[in-house]
Amino acid sequence: MISLNQWAAQKQLGAVRLRPLHPPAYSVPTRFGVFTVRPNSLSAFWGQVEVRLGFPPELAGDQIYLHTLDVQKILEPLANGESVALPATRLVVVDPGHGGTHTGTRNIVTGRYEKDYTLDWALRLAPLLRQTGWRVLLTRTNDVTLSLADRVAFAEAHHADLFLSLHFNSTGSGNGLPAGLETYYLPPVGMPSSITRGYADDLHASFPNNAYDTQNFYYALRLHTALLTVNGGKDRGVRRARFLNVLSGQQRPAVLIEGGYLSNPTEARQIADPAYRQKLALAVAQALE
Ligand SMILES: [Zn+2]
Repeated sequence: MISLNQWAAQKQLGAVRLRPLHPPAYSVPTRFGVFTVRPNSLSAFWGQVEVRLGFPPELAGDQIYLHTLDVQKILEPLANGESVALPATRLVVVDPGHGGTHTGTRNIVTGRYEKDYTLDWALRLAPLLRQTGWRVLLTRTNDVTLSLADRVAFAEAHHADLFLSLHFNSTGSGNGLPAGLETYYLPPVGMPSSITRGYADDLHASFPNNAYDTQNFYYALRLHTALLTVNGGKDRGVRRARFLNVLSGQQRPAVLIEGGYLSNPTEARQIADPAYRQKLALAVAQALE
């Protein structure tokens, strides 16, 4: 564990500020923004945007301590403020989640399938990205069945510079009716997943995509921040998940976006609106400009 105070002093940043919230929060100013953590909470904030930590910060005396990996893999990339260096070739593979017999989840209001909404989002996004100078390939342009391995192989075959998988979320009944945005990337080696959905989460597993830990995080944060301006700030955090096979095998930065909950009636109605999906597409394109 690393004392946030000592880290800030080493970096010649301003003092950590105790904010008398309930529970209390600790904020450290960096050159590029303010990072805020709370004791025993995985929810950290970069400005107003939620970033999930790998480990809960601990309070000891009047000092707050962060896990070394959270400092190395989250706080320092934020404090360094390096933007994503866009590759010269700028080829992005956009992956509309599901398709064919893999319907994905279902809109609780309209009954339409996730696979249709993700394809529509991708088809709206592609021309917008091309306008900003990206070359764009889609893993599917119609309602076909593709395995996760097919999607990874497609990006590999085309030597994509970035892989972006588009999804919408849902939750079973009895879990309340969550709404909001979740953006995922592969956890760095040693860091637990934010969610495991019952899959084993081997912290020591290393994947090809772990070569891109920092870029994954930068892309995820940029996309997440842009999309929050569309969904009214319903923020469920930039997160990590090791079981997402569409990410782990990638030899390029890779992000998976869960653009909202089709199981939440209010959000399901928004996502059913083509104008709203156009805004989602615009936000993604702007984030990658
Ligand atoms: Zn999905």
